[in-house]
Amino acid sequence: MCYNYPMITHSHDPLIFNAGVNRIKYSKNGSSNDNCPFCDKSQQANIHKVQDDMVWLDNKFMTIENSQMTVLIESAEHLGDVTTYSRKKNRELFRFAFACWQETMDSGKFDSVLMFKNFGPMSGGSLRHPHMQIVGLTCNDGYEDVTAENFSGINVLKNDRIEISLSDHPIMGLAETNISQNCVMSADDEDLFADAVQNTAKYYMNDFMNGRCDSYNLFFYKIDGRTICKVVPRFLTSPYFIGYKIPQIFTNERMQEIVQELRKALT
Ligand SMILES: [Zn+2]
Repeated sequence: MCYNYPMITHSHDPLIFNAGVNRIKYSKNGSSNDNCPFCDKSQQANIHKVQDDMVWLDNKFMTIENSQMTVLIESAEHLGDVTTYSRKKNRELFRFAFACWQETMDSGKFDSVLMFKNFGPMSGGSLRHPHMQIVGLTCNDGYEDVTAENFSGINVLKNDRIEISLSDHPIMGLAETNISQNCVMSADDEDLFADAVQNTAKYYMNDFMNGRCDSYNLFFYKIDGRTICKVVPRFLTSPYFIGYKIPQIFTNERMQEIVQELRKALT
């Protein structure tokens, strides 16, 4: 038996990665804070905005073509993270990040603007210093391959201000928590959102798998009138996904357990 390709003939155009730029980057930065470009203020150039110890600036290493790559340095602390900041600091970070993200979208220069964060060795990040990335794409719709069902799932918490679910049709798997609110957010809404993301990321780093997970991503979306953050604990990427684009989830029993644990972490 031989399988025929499905009807869809066009998939997402790939982003173009400029390998020459990346060679310079890796040769310059080790894992300690020696030579950390975010600790060393003299290395910071093309700054868009500063608030307290947070700095939004151009990424020096524009590895993706047809884009504007920017970096948001979250804190002056080299070993800081969303999972260890005080509640107040984390809320300030989210407000600042949302403002920078919105400003990039409002510029009208981009087809889509991605905002995400890598943390830990499995997350795809190359610098320890805590930062988010805001990337405007000029020739690419970043949302082309995500669908509404990627953001729904088993209900964790739902009220008129916030909706949290564990994906049953994740983009990749295994456990993707979706935190979502209306697109128009008051300052209080932003705080609520920041707290939910922080508590979820803390759960994945400290309790989920008995603390054996050391990496996560945050992915932000503005889609269908909602602001969404997907919190994804990261492991070695599954060959089922790499070779066949097949996402995975846990068994229903384990999914229900995670939902219960998340509820506890969110209260
Ligand atoms: Zn640093």
